[in-house]
Amino acid sequence: MNWRDRLNRFMYGRYGQDQFSRFLLVVCLILLLLSFFVRIPLLSILVLLLLGYVYFRMLSRNVTARYAENQKYLELKGKVMGLFGKGGGSGIRQGDNMIFRCPKCSQKIRIPCGKGMVEITCPRCRTRFRKRT
Ligand SMILES: [Zn+2]
Repeated sequence: MNWRDRLNRFMYGRYGQDQFSRFLLVVCLILLLLSFFVRIPLLSILVLLLLGYVYFRMLSRNVTARYAENQKYLELKGKVMGLFGKGGGSGIRQGDNMIFRCPKCSQKIRIPCGKGMVEITCPRCRTRFRKRT
């Protein structure tokens, strides 16, 4: 049995990587770089804890819980992206309408142009969000 088979056997039934893990790894990297420039007590411990958490998630057998965490992260990311998206309006113009995507479920929503700030309720998941038309 070569190392690849061993790794596959080891990873079998485990959760592995997802967007949330990758995001946490990026945060680790940033904190690590930061710790080279500024002396913040406990920062290296924080990085280690975070890294430990990332590996815990990757090797976890509780796939359902990890999946739920990732979904929460994606939802939160969608909300943050919505806040920082060009003045809250990241829609695509199509004729006299603007096409927006629900930050939660990515459902396409068509809104007439030139209405200013509108509160949109997603027809699929009932999420409310504000967009400029
Ligand atoms: Zn939705």
